[in-house]
Amino acid sequence: MFPLQLAHLSSFHYMAIATINITALALIILVHKYSKAEDNRGRIFIAMGLFMLTWVDFAFLARLVGESSLALSEIFLRLAWVATPLFFYYTYLVSVTVIFQAVQKTKLSSALLVIALLLSFASAFTNLIISGIKFTGTNIDIQYGIGFYPFLALIFLYIILTLVPVFRTKLTQKSWAFLAGILIFYIANLVFNIALPAFVHVTHLYYLGDYSTVFLLALTAYAVIEHELFKVRVIATQALTSVLWIILFVRLFAAANLTEFVVDLFVFVTSVAFGILFLKSVRDERQQKQKLEELATRLQDMDKKKDEFISVAAHELRAPMTAIKGYLSMIAEGDAGAIPDEAVQYLGDAIIGNDRLIRLVNNMLNVARIEEGRLVYQIGNVRLGEVVRRVHDEFKLEAQDKGLEMKLEVPELNDLVRADEDRVHEVVANFVSNGIKYTDKGSVTVRLVQPTPQTIRCEVVDTGPGISKEDGDKLFNKFYRSESAIGKAVGSGLGLYISKLLIQEFKGKIGFTSTPGTGSTFWFELPLASQSQA
Ligand code: ADP
Repeated sequence: MFPLQLAHLSSFHYMAIATINITALALIILVHKYSKAEDNRGRIFIAMGLFMLTWVDFAFLARLVGESSLALSEIFLRLAWVATPLFFYYTYLVSVTVIFQAVQKTKLSSALLVIALLLSFASAFTNLIISGIKFTGTNIDIQYGIGFYPFLALIFLYIILTLVPVFRTKLTQKSWAFLAGILIFYIANLVFNIALPAFVHVTHLYYLGDYSTVFLLALTAYAVIEHELFKVRVIATQALTSVLWIILFVRLFAAANLTEFVVDLFVFVTSVAFGILFLKSVRDERQQKQKLEELATRLQDMDKKKDEFISVAAHELRAPMTAIKGYLSMIAEGDAGAIPDEAVQYLGDAIIGNDRLIRLVNNMLNVARIEEGRLVYQIGNVRLGEVVRRVHDEFKLEAQDKGLEMKLEVPELNDLVRADEDRVHEVVANFVSNGIKYTDKGSVTVRLVQPTPQTIRCEVVDTGPGISKEDGDKLFNKFYRSESAIGKAVGSGLGLYISKLLIQEFKGKIGFTSTPGTGSTFWFELPLASQSQA
């Protein structure tokens, strides 16, 4: 019937191959069922799993057929090698698209697919990579063609590309699992399939490299369906409970006498009752979790919409406000004819109010840009003293209007820093504008000091209400405004948050000190530009 004299492989191999096949197929089915239907990530994993199985199974078959038919064995071996490059290609794809969620279709991935297909073709139909096989006992000695080293080099390229995203992104539990899987697999392959045969001619351990794929598959499956693991657990619980019920039920018929039967019946009925309660609680928990997830997604959606709305509204407001600023200044300067002093006074107030609105709108626009890293900085040498002086002049009028004294203290110091001048101006303006806004009487002082030889610090000191301890910790948070500020002055709670982001961008520090009832000092520090940069 079966003309081939199969090689005598130890039962370990049969068991290992059976385990790998069952595990791999179970994982493939699991991922197929639980990966989200709308993306093709599940499919990429399945392709990887199937090529892995093809590789491992045909390599096994090649050994099993062995010397009894070298021709058939060679065909099997070639089939295993056909699957290998495709397996590495799909592992790469799993890494970049599933685990690290990059874009799915790129020129690179298409090129890699073409290369993998060429390698498969060459393995199957040419003697470039495999030129023949021989057996020593049950071990295959492969005779390699001239294309073998280029083949290895290309496989190595796939490995590197698979690992690249690992170093680019922050590792999560999911990516750790995947990383552990591929490392086990790469190391086992490097040792058993490449290093040992090549350097010490130990070929009989190569199956350990092949069999290690199962770790890769299991850990990757975990990474792919991580978000669905809860569902898998629910099903496992249901299955286990049902098995328990069946066993207890069958036992009823094995009862030797009535007493035993009654006891068994009691155990069975109690188990069913508690089992139902248990399953119900597990199901409820799952439903709640799903609901929470839905709510969280909706919340994120709404948060995004809110940001978009703010950004659009701010953008639409800015243009007319800038136009108003221009016209008001022209009228105040008499460009439209002489106007009474009282009107100039009113126009001054209008200009101040309008400037405040422009600052607010700018903050709203900038916050999204800074957070998303879209703000382009014009980094250059900035004289902090000049910026401080300019802000002081801009706000003098506003302070005067409120009956506050505005003081400026800029001593002769090295004040050269590397930063974006307009953005630093914004930070100082935010501080001074707050100082004036929240102070009812007394003064607002802007000053420069040098705390260390390498840094320069700008301080804005006011004699306002100060800041309570509870507010203190949250002041630099997005949209945070103190209770007392909310009723008193217009604002968005963005000024300090943006100032913090900007100063951090310029590698500086920001903070404040305050004694409630006496006033606050807001400060930021920037590193001085080194002589070479100046
Ligand atoms: P906004 O001023 O628009 O509310 P900010 O981010 O600039 O937003 O400030 C956040 C909060 O910090 C303010 O609402 C206010 O409660 C508090 N704050 C800021 N500067 C001062 C200050 N100089 N004195 C007292 N409180 C201040």
